[in-house]
Order: sequence, then structure tokens, then C-alpha cells
Amino acid sequence: MTDLTSLTLAAALDGMEKKQFSSAELTDAFLKAIDQANPKLNAYVVVTADKARAAANASDAKRASGKAGALEGAPLGIKDLFCTEGVRATAASNILGEFTPTYESTVTANLWRDGALMLGKLNMDEFAMGSSNETSRFGPVVSPWRRGNSDASLTPGGSSGGSAAAVAADLCLGATATDTGGSIRQPAAFTGTVGIKPTYGRCSRWGIVAFASSLDQAGPIAKSVEDAAMLLQSMAGHDAKDSTSLPNALPNFRAATTKSIKGMTIGIPKEYRVDGMPEEIEKLWAQGIAWAKDAGCTIKDISLPHTKYALPTYYIVAPAEASSNLARYDGMRYGARVGGKDLNSTYEATRASGFGREVQRRIMIGTYVLSAGYYDAYYLRAQKVRARLNEDMTNAFAQVDAILTPATPSAAFALGEKGDDPVAMYLNDIFTVTANLTGNPALALPAATDANGLPLGLQVIGKALDEETIFSVSAALEKAASFRAKPAKWWV
Ligand code: GLN
Repeated sequence: MTDLTSLTLAAALDGMEKKQFSSAELTDAFLKAIDQANPKLNAYVVVTADKARAAANASDAKRASGKAGALEGAPLGIKDLFCTEGVRATAASNILGEFTPTYESTVTANLWRDGALMLGKLNMDEFAMGSSNETSRFGPVVSPWRRGNSDASLTPGGSSGGSAAAVAADLCLGATATDTGGSIRQPAAFTGTVGIKPTYGRCSRWGIVAFASSLDQAGPIAKSVEDAAMLLQSMAGHDAKDSTSLPNALPNFRAATTKSIKGMTIGIPKEYRVDGMPEEIEKLWAQGIAWAKDAGCTIKDISLPHTKYALPTYYIVAPAEASSNLARYDGMRYGARVGGKDLNSTYEATRASGFGREVQRRIMIGTYVLSAGYYDAYYLRAQKVRARLNEDMTNAFAQVDAILTPATPSAAFALGEKGDDPVAMYLNDIFTVTANLTGNPALALPAATDANGLPLGLQVIGKALDEETIFSVSAALEKAASFRAKPAKWWV
């Protein structure tokens, strides 16, 4: 029998339905793979083996009695940003200490409702701030991918580095992730996996540790476009506990992955052709355009004129919201506390030792752009640019069905390579942040490998609430690309 861990979610569910193997066997195979790989990859920060086995047995019983849910018995990994009842959740920050929630996030509760089970919690950048998973209190995740014959450790991307690495290395069938400025799509692109950030409001933010509330969205990282559609179907949906949750009914995302894209118009934004873009990214994009054309699409050059302001706007809005969201960590209610001689010094000592350097930098930037005297020049101005970016999208989607761009400006880089240059790190997000600022859904899928054999991803951006078109276009591109590369399992 083929290695169970290498199956897609769709194939694994099919295999269980046909009684080829049980969820208990599948879960054991993943737990064994995690044991072998995790000392090298550092993707999981908690493994909930006993809970996973108990849930798998319960799922097998449910399936036997004909009551299987849509994801019955599917073992998943959960980003450590999600609150999980009775299982530690730290956002990879020291300030949360051993915080163990007494409640379950809506997104994970939805997955369990449909029969999925948790293998453990996945590593990430601290509070989801980063693009390389190097700001984690648990240390970086090492990508399962390597450059050619080199054994240098590469980043799986961030902030959902653990999610992307675990999916790419076959340490779960799929994973939850979150995306505030690219944290689902960039790690997916770096690891040859599929990740979708849905429309803002599709997934409830309730029970997810907040970074920048007007930008944060949950979504899946998966092995295929179809798997991503199935996971999103379960994760998404209206939730009265999140006031920004959308009331709209969910379409059938999986059905959309088999729809023809013939006759659709795909927009190619000229502003995404940035200076100094590596030739292999240009080539990847041209290839994607050719595939869309072959599938019967009309290609249209479009303009998103305010694109160049998106990154600076993001790096004002996100820290501003973060500085206010993170004010709650003062040593009184959650996690770690470092005592001082009075209340204020306790706050100071707790925050000074609990937050890492990148998080402190964001809090300082955020506090600065919101302060009296600078608010108008930075935060207010950024909100105005955000309105212009929204107009760009509205104008574009009056002419096209979807927008095609590269997902990242480069392939994965080495750990340590950009560590002491925050601006170089921020530039990673150049193609992804716009969709967060405007709320549009966007998906990254693997489309090619570079000269060193590393995955490169394309991004498909859709109209608000039109994930279906994204899934149709992405599935067609996935088929044309027939990306089959897998990392060599050097950790076994
Ligand atoms: N890399 C971006 C940042 O550091 C995005 C992170 C995210 O999407 N959570 O802010």
C-alpha cells in the first residue's frame, strides 16, 4: 500500500469510505511521521497524540454507523494562533506562557463538527508577525525543501511556517493557517502547497489570537486546490460571536474546482511587474498566463494604480492595530508575568521580557503612527490609501473575473538570510498585502520550480465573496502545471 501520509485529503477520505484503511491507522501513520521529522523540522510545538488516537477511534465508529461527517477521521494540524480547548495556545510568544484556553475557536470547532481531528499545534512567527518563521519563541521551522544538493536550512515562509512545512512534509492531511498580509499564501508558495485567504469575514475570527483585526483571516493550507476547497467549506460560515463575520450563505467550493473557465477574463496588473523581479518569476507568470489562455480565457492587461502604496500602508495599519490588540498582555490575565515593585513596573517587566524584538518593533511603530500629532500623517493617510486600493479592485473587477499574479517576489530564502533587515523581510509581502487591505479573496498554488528545484507559486485574486471563481481558475492552472515535485525526505 502507498504511504498513507502522502495521500491528499480527498483521497484519504475516499480510502476510509471504501474501508481500505481506518482513521486510527491513518492517524498512527502521521504520528509516526511527526516523531521522525519534528526534531529536524520543528513544525509542531505540541503533539496531541492521545487525543488524536481517541478522536480517530471515535471517527471510525461514527463512519461504521453511517454517520460520517464531511471530514470524518481526517487528521489535521492547527496553527498555534487558534485557541484549542484544553490544549496550550501561545501564538509562539513567551508572553502567553503556558496559556491553555478553556474554549475552542469557531474555525477549529467547525472542523471538529465535520469529523476532522487534531494531531497537534503548529509553529509560527510570534503573533503571526514575520515572513520566515524566525520570530517564534520555539525557534524557526526548517523547510522540508532544500536548494539542489545544498543542505543549508531554508525558511518555509511565515507566519504560517509550521502549517506549510507540515503539509509539504506529509505530517498532516491539511492545516489551518491565518493571513494578515500574506501568511497563508507566502508559505504555501515557498513549500509547493496550496493556500487560500478567503474574503474578509468568511471565517470567524472568534478564538483566534488577534494581530490586526481588520486584516486577519483564517484559511487552509492543503495539498491540492480541491483539498483547500473542502477545508474552507468546513472552516467558513457565519458566526454571531464575530461582529465582522459575513452572513452570506456558503457556495459549494469543491464543486467550483471542476467548473470550466472557458470564456472567463483574467486580468494581468501591470503594477505587479516590479523592478528587479527575478527572471524566473517573470517566466512563471508568463507561463500562468499561457495556461489560462489555453484553457479558453481572455487575457486582459489591467491597472491597479495604487499598488505601490499597498506595502507602506500595510506596515502602518497592521502595527497600529497590533499595538492596540497587544495592549491586553500585561501579565494580569494571560500567560506569563514578571513581577515588579508596583503595578506599572510589573507591566513593563512582563512586556519587556514576554515580547520578542519584532513584536516590540511593531508595537512601537503602531504606537507612533497612532500618537497625537502623527495620527493624521500616518494612520489617517493610510486609511485613505486603503479606500483608493478598494476602488482599484472595484474598477478591475468591473472588467475581469479574476486577477493573476506571482505569489512572492522570489523562491524560499535561507534561514538567517534576512534576519537583521526588517525592510528586506517586509518586501516579501509585496504581492500579498493588497488583498488583505481590500478584503478580496486570494489563493496561492504551486506552478513551477526554480533552477534550484524550489517551488514557485502563482496567486489568483478574486472578487469579494467569489472564492468559487478562484477555485475554478486555480484548479485549471493546477491541472496545466501538473506540479508533482516533493521534497526529498532527508529527515527520515
Ligand atoms: N509578513 C507579514 C507581516 O509580518 C504578514 C504576516 C501575516 O500575514 N500574519 O506582517
